[in-house]
Amino acid sequence: MEKVLIIGGGVAGLSAGIYAQKSGYKSIIAERHDKLGGQLTGWQRGGYHVDNCIHWLTGTNKNTALYKRWKELGMLGGVDIIKAESLYTYEKGGVRLSLCADIKKLENDMLAVAPEDVGEIKALISAVETVKKFSGTGGENGDEKLSLSDILFRCPSLLRYSLLTVGELANMFDNKVIRGFLCSLLTKDFSAIALLTVFATFTSGNGYLPAGGSLKAAQRMAERYLSLGGSAYCNKEAVRLNVEKGRARSVTFADGSEISADAFIFTGDPKMLFNKVIDGDMPFKLKRLYKSKAYKRFSAFQCAYSCDLALLNFKGDFIFEPRYKFKKLTGSDYLVLKEFSHESSFAPENKTVLQAMVVVDENRCRDFIDKYRDKERYDELKKAYIDVITAAIIKKFPKLKESLYLLDSWTPATYRNYTLTETGSFMSFAFKGGVLPKKVSGKIPGIKNAFLATQWQHSPGGLPIAAECGRRAVELILSRRVSGGVEKGAVKKARFGYSK
Ligand SMILES: Cc1cc2nc3c(=O)[nH]c(=O)nc-3n(C[C@H](O)[C@H](O)[C@H](O)COP(=O)(O)OP(=O)(O)OC[C@H]3O[C@@H](n4cnc5c(N)ncnc54)[C@H](O)[C@@H]3O)c2cc1C
Repeated sequence: MEKVLIIGGGVAGLSAGIYAQKSGYKSIIAERHDKLGGQLTGWQRGGYHVDNCIHWLTGTNKNTALYKRWKELGMLGGVDIIKAESLYTYEKGGVRLSLCADIKKLENDMLAVAPEDVGEIKALISAVETVKKFSGTGGENGDEKLSLSDILFRCPSLLRYSLLTVGELANMFDNKVIRGFLCSLLTKDFSAIALLTVFATFTSGNGYLPAGGSLKAAQRMAERYLSLGGSAYCNKEAVRLNVEKGRARSVTFADGSEISADAFIFTGDPKMLFNKVIDGDMPFKLKRLYKSKAYKRFSAFQCAYSCDLALLNFKGDFIFEPRYKFKKLTGSDYLVLKEFSHESSFAPENKTVLQAMVVVDENRCRDFIDKYRDKERYDELKKAYIDVITAAIIKKFPKLKESLYLLDSWTPATYRNYTLTETGSFMSFAFKGGVLPKKVSGKIPGIKNAFLATQWQHSPGGLPIAAECGRRAVELILSRRVSGGVEKGAVKKARFGYSK
């Protein structure tokens, strides 16, 4: 039986492992951290659970192909899906607007807030309805598996949106609340089509939450992998891929050990692999993305508090614009709050976890990472962020003043240390309006039997993309086997999955 060594046990690595096992390989996952799951994780702090990842999981609609894939991977299936009424609520000047699951209600709510924008609101809702028909997005009553050209033919206005950033889209509206509502979920620089896709996904019931949160989801995927006969080592950091005459032979680890295999899959940030673990340059297309101004890297500063549940007057995610001091420090207009009343096990009775997140640009990510080397300066910077965030929350919700208790805070430097991404990113590139999300092959130039499976191959990354890249890497290994005449039909098996 051929052996596949997978470096990194996040969602991409677990997906690669599951498909490798299903395709008849003997696979091993080597993960540098002490548990599997990568960014899909969570942790305990003083009797509370902090959830690191899922704000929405694309693929919760049972009629989509992605749902079936998540079931195959253990992420979904046999687990309750929490159907939130809204993905997020935005508030400005006392007016609230929510991205609710019912698109008709969304349209009516937007019209009630901004009757002056009736034309643009109707055009936007119609475009969202069209995106729901795009293959993989809408699920039941939506997914007509239209190609991009079909879509543009049916809804030429999508072409207009595809050229815009979210900020430019927002500027087409006169009403300030609508503008903030549109800009606050992704950043202003993000492609407007990406925002329409989120709207279409959520209003199709295809972006809900798996009960139990991110850590439980990772554990289910790890269990699925192990139950298929895969093996995993944690605390095992790959430091060198050993290659002879264009064929990878083994990987050397930081503990001095070496594992040989017939094929190798590398997950994680390519910037931390090439010219470091893998001797040589990354694929040209990928290199261009890191250099391009249209594709940006980002991360976030986050903190978690405990608070009294009864004092919160919103559900799920809540976004608002704190005052100038916050913007000056963080560079962001928006603070995202998330409460976890839907997960009773995350907090003691009558309490909940309130998590705050502010997205930061690449320069600020690097600042956190540089300062991390000097504990005093790093702690000072963290404290400055915590202070402006706490002040902003108390200003918005004065009743929380006596109830808020800081549980934890984490930064781009935490992500860098935890999962080895160069700038502490947890997704791949944010792409601007006017550019399409690029897909990069998993082949590694000059090495026949080593492949990439990372969310960086397909912006903007995220869980479904990580999982898909893992599956595709196995498909690439199979296709090499097929072209070598070893096993016909194997590619088909990997593409559609099959039970042992
Ligand atoms: C705050 C936050 C919110 C998010 N919200 C969402 C959301 O709502 N929806 C969504 O779809 N996605 C979301 N994501 C993104 C999602 O978590 C990631 O896209 C996904 O987990 C990436 O998986 P991955 O396997 O590609 O990478 P990672 O999770 O980074 O896994 C890579 C793994 O490789 C390991 N590794 C790296 N180098 C080595 C080495 N040399 N040797 C051994 N191991 C190594 C790392 O330790 C890591 O475990 C969010 C992430 C965060 C942090």
